[in-house]
Amino acid sequence: MTEEMARGYVREVPLYINGEFSDAEARSRFATLNPSCNAPITTVAEGTEADVDRAVKAARAAFVAGSWARMPGAERATYLRRIADLMLEDQEALSLLETLDTGIPIAQTRGQVARAAENFRFFADMAQHMTGETYPVEGRYLNYSILQPVGVAGLITPWNTPLMLECWKIAPCLAAGNSAVLKPAEWSPLTADRLAAIIDRAGLPPGVFNVVHGYGETAGAALVAHPDVRLISFTGETETGREIMRNGAQTLKRFSMELGGKSPVIVFADADLDQALDAVLFGMFTLNGERCTAGSRVLVEASVARDFEERLQARIAAIRTGDPFSPQTELGPLIHPEHLARVLGYLEIARQEGATISVGGRRPPGFPVGNFLEGTLLSGVKPGMRVEQEEIFGPVLALLSFADEEGAIRIANDVRYGLASYIWTRDLGRAHNVAAEMEAGMVWVNSPNVRDLRTPFGGSKDSGIGREGGHYSFEFYCESKSVQVALRPPAIPMVGRIEP
Ligand code: NDP
Repeated sequence: MTEEMARGYVREVPLYINGEFSDAEARSRFATLNPSCNAPITTVAEGTEADVDRAVKAARAAFVAGSWARMPGAERATYLRRIADLMLEDQEALSLLETLDTGIPIAQTRGQVARAAENFRFFADMAQHMTGETYPVEGRYLNYSILQPVGVAGLITPWNTPLMLECWKIAPCLAAGNSAVLKPAEWSPLTADRLAAIIDRAGLPPGVFNVVHGYGETAGAALVAHPDVRLISFTGETETGREIMRNGAQTLKRFSMELGGKSPVIVFADADLDQALDAVLFGMFTLNGERCTAGSRVLVEASVARDFEERLQARIAAIRTGDPFSPQTELGPLIHPEHLARVLGYLEIARQEGATISVGGRRPPGFPVGNFLEGTLLSGVKPGMRVEQEEIFGPVLALLSFADEEGAIRIANDVRYGLASYIWTRDLGRAHNVAAEMEAGMVWVNSPNVRDLRTPFGGSKDSGIGREGGHYSFEFYCESKSVQVALRPPAIPMVGRIEP
């Protein structure tokens, strides 16, 4: 796999509205950069309010026409499975483009394309089995609920693992019968465009799925403010989420918010330390450390802390950093020079706060340009330091130690985020007890970050509102309508009785 091969799939990126690829109305374009050298890869149509309005109108018209919204779930499922098949046929192009655009190593983007496609299969099955509930009331009433699509959904996605996160939203949104307008992140538009071409080939009715590229403050904000958009599913930073909720309040939208994280990994002395070590490295340094559920704070029990630190240092120093197209590479360049500057800023903050950069923290040798950063370990981190509290979103791991279970729980929970937690111990009772204490939407015990698509995904506190995955996605993307039927003439209190 080479960058040259990826370039073969690049085109000038258009918008996709009402089943057609088109330029933006204002004809303006922006560049997307190659993180390995920061040279432009291609240009992208810059959608603005007028384009968003066109896309939402098309989506609304498709919804009202009903050819998708009222199509039996089993039939919608055949389209979704076709999308999955086409994605897998196109796996090479999709993974090459994703690597070119984001710098995520090719060995990892291949897996992500497969996972993204699996979402369409999974939600195809769910569309086929969508069902409501019945509430028989003692032979007098039959009450039941039916799930119906809501209308037009605005899907706003970030630049880390863009294709996978887009498919997490698109698959359940369409499976439930809604129409969608996707606003991908401006730093990673290439696979969203390729996906639009795939969905176009799958033959969905025009207007059901639309993509408007552009900036968050213009295209994204216009989508959030549009009165015909009923749902906003957003993944991104907590501050952006707050702003989106403020801007959508006027039109009273339903929100799903998947936001930032600063997830703890608690390693007790009795744990399988080899497995814990492998999981810490996998969870922190794959996806270039730009993973919302990264275990970015490792809390190690004091009695094994020194030994664990030495082993971590050796392994982090051995991470293969470099060309994201090399199948051996484990850590590629960060997405954008601005993001690299932000991450480097946190290394400076770490120094000022008295932590030590005990591994990495530099540009790897042989990569004078691009957004490369070695895997980095911050030792001597103390609770409350900014590098312990704030999301860095790069390959930077903060290492702390704790004296006892109570202390571990306190440090783990004492952040504003609550996305994921990881616990390593052989003590079964303690594992369950600590899991129950974690202020987090998801807890993994003696496990790396793996997830069955049926399980709820999402965070508590500043990490989000709502859950995605399985039937939780349908709760968001559907109206649950309650129908009450009297089975025999009910006694109705008479109002306005006319006396004979
Ligand atoms: P941002 O919040 O900067 O952007 C996310 C998306 O929102 C982009 O498409 C962006 O457009 C758009 N946007 C920005 N401002 C507005 C606005 N005012 N109105 C509407 N849309 C807007 O996040 P990043 O792209 O930087 O992604 C990284 C963040 O995502 C991290 O905090 C990470 O933790 C979080 N994340 C959370 C996950 C979860 O499931 N909890 C999963 C993955 C990531 P533009 O690209 O133009 O800025």
